[in-house]
Amino acid sequence: MPNKEMLLIPGPTPVVDEIYEALAGETRAHTDPRFVASFRNSLDMTKKMFNTDGEVFIFAGSGTLAMEMAIVNTVAPGEKLLVVSHGYFGDRFIALAQAFGIEVEAVQAHWGTHIDPALVEAKLNEKPFKAVTVTHVDTSTGVIADLEKLVPIVKKSGALFILDGVCATAAVEEDMSKEYGNSNYKIDVVLTGSQKAIGVPPGLGIVAFGPQALAARDKMEKVPAYYCDIKNWLPIMQNPGKYFATPPVNMLYAYEKGMEILLAEGLENRYKRNFLLGKAVRSALAVYGMKALADEETAAPTLSCILYPEGVDDITFRKLLADKGMIVAGALGSLAGKAFRIGHMGNVTGEMFVKAITLVGETLKEMGFEADIDGAVAQFKKVYGE
Ligand SMILES: *Cc1c(COP(=O)(O)O)cnc(C)c1O
Repeated sequence: MPNKEMLLIPGPTPVVDEIYEALAGETRAHTDPRFVASFRNSLDMTKKMFNTDGEVFIFAGSGTLAMEMAIVNTVAPGEKLLVVSHGYFGDRFIALAQAFGIEVEAVQAHWGTHIDPALVEAKLNEKPFKAVTVTHVDTSTGVIADLEKLVPIVKKSGALFILDGVCATAAVEEDMSKEYGNSNYKIDVVLTGSQKAIGVPPGLGIVAFGPQALAARDKMEKVPAYYCDIKNWLPIMQNPGKYFATPPVNMLYAYEKGMEILLAEGLENRYKRNFLLGKAVRSALAVYGMKALADEETAAPTLSCILYPEGVDDITFRKLLADKGMIVAGALGSLAGKAFRIGHMGNVTGEMFVKAITLVGETLKEMGFEADIDGAVAQFKKVYGE
């Protein structure tokens, strides 16, 4: 077991032994039929996960490059993009789109809360937008977007619906064939990365384009990108024996194993496990007087942003936890120092979180605060169902 620590940050997430083993496989030619078959299997499993009859693209890069691929191939310079943001990663689309000369407008929620769908609707009624981005789970706040409300509002306006799933894919449903109240109201693009709820090391960007998004790319004469132009990748994704740019062979072995683990667990089971983990972690930490930034209706199954009780010093708390082998992340923006972020997604177990809840309690005690460790662990088990 190579992992000596519990990496409970909002990604990368803990990597299990079988995935490390796959990663360490013999590096083969990207044209070797055995590698080609493995890549094809990964593409098929990814299509299954998104339930899409469009195309999926898997390439070397991080989630941010996947964001870029999604935008550059759907919105041309000078066209309008609406960014629906409930945090740091939502806002990232603003700068990204501006870098390509896209006209960007944004509706931003107060951190920790949902965007008001009426605001989005009002904005879309003002003028036509080519596309709208929504961050499924914003990693800065632990808030999950309400797709049931947002997809119909966006699709009714005629815009493409682009979903940033980097902190949600494989833990929360992202079904691109699902009809949100009308046969035409579907998610058009989902983009994600390998290192969060999928549970594979960082290094792969993944983007799924549905039929309407592919049609939008077809209508664009050229796009201001080369590596990121899906037209360069389309022949490879349809026949992975072809060459455009060398695929990260070993990362794709790891990804194939990660997807096999995921589909063997079953998407529904995985969604349920993540949902219960999130609820159980938050309710156990509440026993220590640690409250989540988001309220339970909008809190994400994948990670939680937890506010410190009065007097708990962020740096000391995280340092003491790290000394015990448990890594959590600091908070971003104006929440820095006031909260920490704990990931509970990917290939993690209830057992790990019993340990995590115990270590948090021990750390609080070490810092001179009271902590009912037995009570918190019991609360975790009650909610998680053990
Ligand atoms: C992590 C994250 C990103 C950025 O991904 P990188 O792999 O760090 O480039 C984008 N969006 C969301 C929602 C994320 O959680």
